[in-house]
Amino acid sequence: MDHPQAMADSVPPNKHPTGLYILFTTEMWERFAYYGMRALLVYYMIKCIFLPENASHVMGYELIKRSLEWVFGPLSTQALSSQIYGLYTGFVYLAPIFGGTIADRWLGQRKAVVVGGVIMAIAEFMLMKQSLFFPALLMMIVGNGFFKPNISTQVGNLYAPGDHRRDRAFSVFYVGINVGATLSPFIAGTLGENVTPYGRWGFFSAGVGMILGLIIYLWGQRHLAPDNVMKRASATDAKPVAPLSPDDWKKIWALIVLCLLNIPFWTVYEQQGNTIALWVDGNCNRHIFSWLQGYGFLPAAVLNWEMPATWYQSFNAIMIVAFTPVILAFWRWQEKRKTEPSSLAKMAIGCILLGISFLVLLPQAHMIDAAEKAAIIPQKASLLPITLCTVIFTLGELYLSPVGLSLVTKLAPPRLVSMMMGMWFMSSFFGDYLCGYIGAYWEKMSHANFFLLLMTLACTSGLCMFALLKPLKRAIGHGHAETVDV
Ligand code: GLN
Repeated sequence: MDHPQAMADSVPPNKHPTGLYILFTTEMWERFAYYGMRALLVYYMIKCIFLPENASHVMGYELIKRSLEWVFGPLSTQALSSQIYGLYTGFVYLAPIFGGTIADRWLGQRKAVVVGGVIMAIAEFMLMKQSLFFPALLMMIVGNGFFKPNISTQVGNLYAPGDHRRDRAFSVFYVGINVGATLSPFIAGTLGENVTPYGRWGFFSAGVGMILGLIIYLWGQRHLAPDNVMKRASATDAKPVAPLSPDDWKKIWALIVLCLLNIPFWTVYEQQGNTIALWVDGNCNRHIFSWLQGYGFLPAAVLNWEMPATWYQSFNAIMIVAFTPVILAFWRWQEKRKTEPSSLAKMAIGCILLGISFLVLLPQAHMIDAAEKAAIIPQKASLLPITLCTVIFTLGELYLSPVGLSLVTKLAPPRLVSMMMGMWFMSSFFGDYLCGYIGAYWEKMSHANFFLLLMTLACTSGLCMFALLKPLKRAIGHGHAETVDV
């Protein structure tokens, strides 16, 4: 059988090996499961299982509530749910450092993906039972730890070092992530919100999605590149592992600094599933056809239809799918004019775009704050500004996230690549934890000040990245930073 990497080399320069589409579809279904569950999570806690009549049946509820209150003081149901959301999504991204290390050392990237997928599928089915909520969250975290870094590094494995298709492959892979994230709120979110008991059938559909992903992955094994364990087993001369060179160390340090600078990005970005979800649910008019009232050509059922709040969780993902080809074409156009930013500059631009996106929400936030201050029931805000805000931060995400994934697989020493991928996701851990922490201030601050805080955080990290561009490029090797043409 042809070596998949050789197959990758033999396909035309703009085509990708079949393995990429196997990984694309596997990750698509895994993200369907993850985001379907995440779309329901905050609402499920606030509207269902943390209600006084239900909370006592949830295994571990008292212990977790008391522990968090011991650290943070008394927590309302909203603040508690925000904290749990932040801790959960945070740990989901901490676990990859362990899953990555275990795969690098022992398990191999292929088996790790299967182990992770099976654990996550079981967790989704456990979520169908309210009492198992916390053990299921724990299983989701462990499963994701095995799955996420090891599927991402396998994309990089398909391409030889220096193959320019690698960057584009990560953008394609990122589209797969977001096709899954787009579908899940519509399917899992709608089932979870509308079919009683609340949540159950949404989690069920997420579990089915994970199983579909596993089936596709197992079926497509022969199209994937050999993983680290397979390469070691087939090596004819068992050379002792050379210590890391000073150049390797420089790159590792540069990646660490970059990951630290990414933390505020994820803190702000992850508000989507947390406070922004609450903003959409509580403050936005989701009767999206009501403005057509006077025109008389739509039936009342359509005019009065209210978009489920969970559907907002698809906006970002739909936009990723729609904007990726545009951004890729734009970068190609810039490349021809030799004005394409380096990967590092792109990441800095990504943070700034994320920050300024919140400016769009300020006028509405001020209006709602003023009404609340005057004890008047505020008029619901239109969905347009939050949609525009999402457009801008999605562009920011495209500048940062796939570019960063590709950079990790290029720079990390091959025997540490899954671990370094785990480190990349670790910035999401700190980011997501802080997302929950800051989210707990949602009810304590005015909405306008909250959005300004988000803007300041993201813009500051973007400016720090710009300030550190030169030393980071020196550490990474000028060539690498300049050749990224995602
Ligand atoms: N949205 C992307 C995903 O689900 C990135 C998440 C992250 O790195 N925090 O994979």
